[in-house]
Amino acid sequence: MKTRLSTAAALLALLASTARAQTMPVIPIPQPPVDSTDPVATLVSRLDLEHYKATVKGLTQFGDRRQGTKRNRDAVDWIEAQLKSYGCTNTERITYTYTPPPPRNADSTARAAAARGRTPQAQGGGRIRGVRTRTGVNTDSLKQPDPRIRALDAEPTTPGERQEVYCTKVGETHPEEMYIVGGHMDGHGWNEAANDDGSGTALVMELARVFSSPDVKTDRSIRFVLWNNEETGLNGARAYVEQRQGLQGKESPAGSGKYPEPKWLGMIQHDMMMFDHGMPRPDGSISPEQRPEADVNIEFQSNSKMADASQKLAWAFHSANEKYATDYPAQVGPHMTNTDSAPFQDLVPAISLRENERGREVGAGWDPHWHQPTDVFATFSDKDFRLGLNAAQTTLGAVGTLVGAKLGGIPVRK
Ligand SMILES: [Zn+2]
Repeated sequence: MKTRLSTAAALLALLASTARAQTMPVIPIPQPPVDSTDPVATLVSRLDLEHYKATVKGLTQFGDRRQGTKRNRDAVDWIEAQLKSYGCTNTERITYTYTPPPPRNADSTARAAAARGRTPQAQGGGRIRGVRTRTGVNTDSLKQPDPRIRALDAEPTTPGERQEVYCTKVGETHPEEMYIVGGHMDGHGWNEAANDDGSGTALVMELARVFSSPDVKTDRSIRFVLWNNEETGLNGARAYVEQRQGLQGKESPAGSGKYPEPKWLGMIQHDMMMFDHGMPRPDGSISPEQRPEADVNIEFQSNSKMADASQKLAWAFHSANEKYATDYPAQVGPHMTNTDSAPFQDLVPAISLRENERGREVGAGWDPHWHQPTDVFATFSDKDFRLGLNAAQTTLGAVGTLVGAKLGGIPVRK
């Protein structure tokens, strides 16, 4: 009886404390109005949730857009047509050949996976903490419950020629220098690759749309690139570096004022932008809601040759997030890894933006849709899409400032 009474008392106390917590007054946070004297703020205000969602949705019509398939080639064609329709008309393509490496020995793959499961070491550096769940790539068509998506993704990949597309906003006073803004358009896992990486691809396309508006002028150039073959080992980004690194800053034809490959000032990659529901719970489940503390993770690689300059670029993005992003803050971390910015990281300042840190969070199972059949448009809520939109606001704000964006002749205020 005594036990039951004290249990009841404890329960009452708990209820009371819960009730107190629930009745704390909520303080509304005023949002600053758009500064009409800041052209970058005006450009950022031209992004919106519906456009962003529509672009992600458009990409999902090509299923998982797996490299080496017709659906992947059709997606490249569609992206190019979209870029042109936005006014980014100088589209070009990189052509390369992808030959898959011989399949790894199943035993060594399993051993490597088991070893990873036993260590708190995250890919790219850093430590995994807390609850971790299994991750991997779904290769079973029958795990995709929707027969329409299963049919869309049915064609297997074939080795051979690949293409990826880019277009460029040419700078007025320094056309010979540019920032590269990228995302990868290929995916896999018997899904619609809505988040990985429809969300990053759509972000890059939305920025191309805003910067290509006829009333926007920039001092420096911006190249919008939609990488292919990221999922097979960054092969599309590697092909770009291999083919174009030596062309940087060269005027061609001489005296034309044209620079087919402006000097690279920085590379900014976007990969999985929408889902930040927090760490897996002790039972392995994940919150069905975007966590209110969701953030945009800006990462550089502290073990790269360009670490110092990359870190500086990351903080410029952090600052742009504080100034321009409407809902979610940004965090900077030193462990950028496993995405198309890696082939650039020893050459130029390079960062990635993501929903979570790639190594210790995504790698620990924070995104249960990663490479799974559930990475489809219908999985994500407006709160998820809004995190992607906030990353777009962050990059547009940062890049717009870095390239000296002007609107109708108004200079950027320092
Ligand atoms: Zn990805």
